[in-house]
Amino acid sequence: MSKKACIFLDRDGVVNRERGDHTYDINDFVINDGLFEGLLKLKEHQFIFIVVTNQSGIALNKYTEEQMHACHRKLIEEAQSYDIEFKAIYFCPHHPDISRCLCRKPDSLLLEKAIDTFDIDPLKSWFIGDRQRDTDAAVKAGVKPLLIKSNQNINEVLHLIL
Ligand SMILES: [Mg+2]
Ligand SMILES: [Zn+2]
Repeated sequence: MSKKACIFLDRDGVVNRERGDHTYDINDFVINDGLFEGLLKLKEHQFIFIVVTNQSGIALNKYTEEQMHACHRKLIEEAQSYDIEFKAIYFCPHHPDISRCLCRKPDSLLLEKAIDTFDIDPLKSWFIGDRQRDTDAAVKAGVKPLLIKSNQNINEVLHLIL
């Protein structure tokens, strides 16, 4: 079996609407236009999907891990109606002012874990993010970086991948 090609996705600003503040209420967790249509096109090309997100609001006590999981359940359910599956949603709950870690982007530990766990070929894989720290993490892990504008419709950039 050859190794898998993966589309890694940042969460806020790529998967769901970046609001300029932490998003943790499911009513504020709004999927960006065109996301699932774009992922369906990528799925036709045998990509798998994994989300990698910094959620420092947990360390900052702005919201709980359970609130975050509720948002992720909403994402998983909405994706299922398009027959889209996320193999995993990796999150860093830390904040550098409170506890240092290696999992917060721009560090690449979560990407490396995913690459190992899901037998992914980083050279065939992409990280779609809306911040420099996303693309920095991608480069560290040997994954191709694709920087979009916050809340940009990913269909506008798929020609760069396909
Ligand atoms: Mg983002
Ligand atoms: Zn962390």
